Amino acid sequence: MKIETQCLHEGYHPQNGQPKALPIYQSTTYTYDSTEHIGKLFDLSVEGHMYSRISNPTVEAVEKKIAALEGGVGALCTTSGQAANLLAILNIAQAGDHFISAATIYGGTINLFGVTLKKFGIECTFVDAEAPAEEIEKAIRPNTKAIFGETIANPSIEVFDIEKFAGIAHRHGLPLIVDNTFATPILCRPFEFGADIVTHSTTKYMDGHAVQVGGAIVDSGKFNWANGKFPEFTEPDESYHGVVYTKNFGSAAYITKARVQLTRDFGTYPSAQAAFLLNLGLETLAVRMERHCRNAERAAEFLAASPKVEFVHYPTLAGDRYHSRARKYLPHGCSGVISFSLKGSRDTAIRFMDSLKLANNVVHVADICTCVLHPASSTHRQLTDEQLTAAGITPGLIRLSVGLENIDDILEDLQNGLNALD
Ligand SMILES: *Cc1c(COP(=O)(O)O)cnc(C)c1O
Repeated sequence: MKIETQCLHEGYHPQNGQPKALPIYQSTTYTYDSTEHIGKLFDLSVEGHMYSRISNPTVEAVEKKIAALEGGVGALCTTSGQAANLLAILNIAQAGDHFISAATIYGGTINLFGVTLKKFGIECTFVDAEAPAEEIEKAIRPNTKAIFGETIANPSIEVFDIEKFAGIAHRHGLPLIVDNTFATPILCRPFEFGADIVTHSTTKYMDGHAVQVGGAIVDSGKFNWANGKFPEFTEPDESYHGVVYTKNFGSAAYITKARVQLTRDFGTYPSAQAAFLLNLGLETLAVRMERHCRNAERAAEFLAASPKVEFVHYPTLAGDRYHSRARKYLPHGCSGVISFSLKGSRDTAIRFMDSLKLANNVVHVADICTCVLHPASSTHRQLTDEQLTAAGITPGLIRLSVGLENIDDILEDLQNGLNALD
């Protein structure tokens, strides 16, 4: 099946006489005929649902769909994108360990990696993603466990060189984790370029309708966890009667461990209702992404032509820093998200934003409706000026998330905003 078809048909396959729409299995528990069977479930020696903190049939259908879209061996849904990135790291790093992340990533993730994980004894080094490989390799230590980056960085719209980072990671026996939230598998499938684990904030385009916070982790199944650096995968897990993940679950070792250890212990599993709503979003993901891209291309050109605009970051623009890289990684388009800066100060940006009528001024992005955000005074407020610069954010930067409205209405709104600066 092609990806547009997978959006509709993967995950749930109703049999003769069964409901056409994915049913919401509103149940915390599952009944079995014997205690022996339940014992086997606890030993992970048979497959099946036992408790909805760990798995649920509605959520499972969505996990299968997301795994298929990304081309992975398995996926795990979480209650948020933050939870997805948290578990993606905790599944391979513990107190005393270290990992590396591109500095140009989502503000919430910078906080998680730089502040909160540090309290757990896991240290993160943020590197300039554009530095030469030799420079980045200098940050790798004996206790380094992973490298992390975002396909399209939120909000600076930098395109991550996945192949370069996969090369660095694999030379050192490390997995590359890519947050593919903005691109979605419709625009980029990071596994095809060497990434090992993909994460998502499904809150964004996957849901698309601003109704449900959620996340997902997808396992490519290709990373060799038995290379000596990851004993948690190759030694018996006492909390599961001595299960050895690489031995018992083969290529699905990573995603199985994330579910049965971390989802079990941290309680980050979404509800069936949440998964049902996410599935509705996923069904139309391919059509929506196409329209987001075409509208954003027009909006980016429009802004770039205005003398009031200092710069526009959108990779399809001919002069964009990431133009050629985007043609490689994002040949079908670069999503609906544009970042740009008006000439003038922080106040100019605020005046522009406050005079828009169509675009919603919201703390959200990647939605069906056009929305705008001023990162320096909202999502990235907690960062110092130094961290802001490292994350590719100027004080006047505006993140414009172009929606599915008619492009003429979007451009008219932007024009009104520009007129208000006179
Ligand atoms: C929003 C976002 C997150 C966090 O996701 P939530 O669903 O809000 O927890 C992580 N990464 C990226 C790239 C995001 O845009």
